[in-house]
Amino acid sequence: MEDRFAFLTEWYDPTSALLRRYQLFYYPRDGSVEMFDVKNQRIFLRRTRYDDIHQEDLFIGNRVNVFSRQLHLIDYGDQYTANKLGSKKERTLALIKPDVVTKIGDILELIYSSNLIVTKAKMTKLTWSQAADFYAEHQGKPFFNNLVQFMSSGPVVAMELMGDEAMSIWRGLLGTSDPAVARREAPQSVRAQFGTDGIKNVGHGSDSPAAAARETEFFFPSTIGHGPSNTAVFTDCTCCIIKPHAISEGLAGKILNSISAAGFEISALQMFNMDQVNAEEFYEVYNGIVTEYPNMVTELCSGPCMALEIHGTDAPKTFREFCGPADPEISELRHRHIDTVRIRFQSEARPLPLCDLRLVERVCHIQIKVS
Ligand code: ADP
Ligand code: MG
Repeated sequence: MEDRFAFLTEWYDPTSALLRRYQLFYYPRDGSVEMFDVKNQRIFLRRTRYDDIHQEDLFIGNRVNVFSRQLHLIDYGDQYTANKLGSKKERTLALIKPDVVTKIGDILELIYSSNLIVTKAKMTKLTWSQAADFYAEHQGKPFFNNLVQFMSSGPVVAMELMGDEAMSIWRGLLGTSDPAVARREAPQSVRAQFGTDGIKNVGHGSDSPAAAARETEFFFPSTIGHGPSNTAVFTDCTCCIIKPHAISEGLAGKILNSISAAGFEISALQMFNMDQVNAEEFYEVYNGIVTEYPNMVTELCSGPCMALEIHGTDAPKTFREFCGPADPEISELRHRHIDTVRIRFQSEARPLPLCDLRLVERVCHIQIKVS
């Protein structure tokens, strides 16, 4: 019998301001989809081939676009799907400590090469009491004060990672708590490579499903507007959006590395799931001006994107030059061997600009509306 995966999904209908529920069916044999309207109990979309959805996109919490509707996958639709797709899938909190935030690109590279995906990310600076709260289980231990002091001394990057056995894979990538021991036991581990001592030891990883749930909720609470805010300063800066296609191709680490290597400071970072309305607003100035406008909007809400604040004098100008022309295929530049991010990481299969630059005020505006 043919495989069929079922999900319960929600779609926010901006016209009626209603949350509508659909069952989404996915047939991996031919990559077709089918939708069933739960409230009205009728077929909403007949089985149709749809190349923009892949089996690896189908996990609880993700958002997928089906004919311009952004569907939020909220549950499995049947036990078969839950068993087949959900059995080993885990989420974990990965926290990059203040000592190695500048190494975020390298760390993302390791994460992607271990078949984990980053579903949420935010650079934030914890207050003393937030850090103490996060590490409450260690209260009373001799190192507690130093640990909390260090964790609130500079920005950290919190991420939710997802994948098969995400918790143990991420803790394995980190290596054991003490970097000196890690250097002996697992020289390739992140703590062995980048760690200093027991306190400055690169990162944190949840150690149980309960801890993962508590810790992701701490940084990414389900209530909009709660949780530690990002580190954006909004002065002397520009905004860079790493687009969804570059995120799903696993290029975020490489792009962040090249941004740092070129001497730019990343002063804020956050992943967003843009919906149609927000993406249209973000690109509003292009509406009716460039023919690509509808495609730009579709691309921006096709999956999570990563927004960066790039800090530095004259950043809007110098960073645009660094990103290169919007069309990476411009052959003149290729011939002249000009090295820009867009040319270097462009995938041949999908000629789209990787990054987008907008005034940072616009992102600020979006942050208020998108959780
Ligand atoms: P892990 O981070 O590997 O889960 P623990 O949960 O045991 O380790 O401890 C949390 C953090 O507290 C560690 O990452 C480390 O920074 C710090 N820590 C733990 N034990 C010590 C110690 N003996 N000396 C200094 N710091 C410690
Ligand atoms: Mg621990």
